[in-house]
Amino acid sequence: MKWGLTIEEAVKFHGHLGPWLMIGYRAGAIARDKLSPKDFHELHCTVRVPNKVPYSCSIDGVQASASCTLGKGNIVVEDSSDFEFVFVNATTKESVKLKLRRDVITELLSKSIEEAVKYVAGLGDWEIFELS
Ligand SMILES: [Zn+2]
Repeated sequence: MKWGLTIEEAVKFHGHLGPWLMIGYRAGAIARDKLSPKDFHELHCTVRVPNKVPYSCSIDGVQASASCTLGKGNIVVEDSSDFEFVFVNATTKESVKLKLRRDVITELLSKSIEEAVKYVAGLGDWEIFELS
């Protein structure tokens, strides 16, 4: 892959491995898979999460995997309790809206960071997100 960071590089970029970083990273990876961008400018993302840690850690995950970055202006963050990641391929106009499942949020909030990392790592993409 010519662009986008590995999860290990994402951890270096963000500073630590946490469940919300993983969730954003997974959302960006799904979007790349579904929307097949040809380069690092093509995807645009709107992240709708509460604008505070740990939820906002997911923003760094999206930046790492999807290369939707603040510097390039192809990511927008909206303070929201919707827990949604909306991706658009600017060329094809195709989009995908990934909504974090409520039961996942509940589980994450009941666990330590270490437990939550293991929990997210054990979930399939569609156990984390639903298309909305
Ligand atoms: Zn974090």
